[in-house]
Amino acid sequence: MPTMPESANQMPFVCKWLYSHPEPQQFKTQEELKNHINKHDINSCNRLSLEDPIYICPWEGCNKRQSSIIKLEEHLYRHIRQRPFKAIPKK
Ligand SMILES: [Zn+2]
Ligand SMILES: [Zn+2]
Repeated sequence: MPTMPESANQMPFVCKWLYSHPEPQQFKTQEELKNHINKHDINSCNRLSLEDPIYICPWEGCNKRQSSIIKLEEHLYRHIRQRPFKAIPKK
C-alpha cells in the first residue's frame, strides 16, 4: 500500500528561501532550520540602489523591504518561528 511519509507532520519548520532552492525545505527542529538559514547568503538579498541599500526578504510571497541586513535577519527569524500548520487566523 502507498505510504504517506509520516515525517510530513514532524517537519513543521520550513525554509521558503526560494531563490536558493525551488522547493521549500522542511526541518524537524527550529535549530536545524536556523542552521540551514545561516548557510544562505543573506547578502544576496541586497538590492543595491544608488542611495540606499535595500534588503528584500527572500521568503516566498513576502518581499518585504528592510533597510539593513540586521533588520532583515530579525525579520527572517520571525518567519522561522512561524509554524506552517498553525491555524490561519480568520478575518
Ligand atoms: Zn533554505
Ligand atoms: Zn519576509
